[in-house]
Amino acid sequence: MTRLAQQKEKMVENHLRRRGIRDKAVLEAMAEVPREKFIPEDMAHLAYNDSPLPIGEGQTISQPYIVALMIQAMELSAQDRVLDIGTGSGYAAAIISRIVKAIYSVERYQTLAETAKERFHRLGYDNIHVLYGDGTQGWPEHAPYDAAVVAAGSPDIPQPLVDQLVIGGRLVIPVGSTQQFQELLRVRRTGESEVKEERLTSVRFVPLVGEAGWKEA
Ligand code: SAH
Repeated sequence: MTRLAQQKEKMVENHLRRRGIRDKAVLEAMAEVPREKFIPEDMAHLAYNDSPLPIGEGQTISQPYIVALMIQAMELSAQDRVLDIGTGSGYAAAIISRIVKAIYSVERYQTLAETAKERFHRLGYDNIHVLYGDGTQGWPEHAPYDAAVVAAGSPDIPQPLVDQLVIGGRLVIPVGSTQQFQELLRVRRTGESEVKEERLTSVRFVPLVGEAGWKEA
């Protein structure tokens, strides 16, 4: 086994399993996807530290524990179709793609969207579809989704994302009234115009910038 593969196993054991990640499909996907392929090459040795890392455009790849926690909270199953807002490096989308049928991922930086697309192609992850645009508006063409996840902090729950869920669908999103801190929420669409919100934990994400998010500076 290579050194990185060993570190990946340790990451799954120490940072995920020991800290309460239980969903088998999530643990398997995290043990499979090579995080070193989603970060700058000269940072490969840091790939399995439990910390965020820079990916360009002032953005970051999220810390593995938080990625696992969010994906576990989505309560995914194999036939699901999923919406992912904030493609970034594509790491979270890659993990989700190992668990579900199809994933639709939206990114507001064209450079990041293009790089992620090439990465998915190279790694053979062919059930991930990428759109360059404002993810606060979702991706209506492929709605409804069984679940959705947002990897950037929002001032409110963007209504378009709730509207694009099936009844029973789950949206996992960091929401906070300042750009510095958020509460990670699971929003369950329980009816045509009804939702149930659960607070999962406190988190720190880069801001969700868009029409139903923070306004551009
Ligand atoms: N899931 C990513 C995390 C990237 S950080 C990963 O695994 O690497 C969050 C990303 O959200 C950034 O790339 C940022 O550019 C993007 N983002 C912020 N606002 C957005 C919006 N309105 N629509 C789409 N992407 C957005």
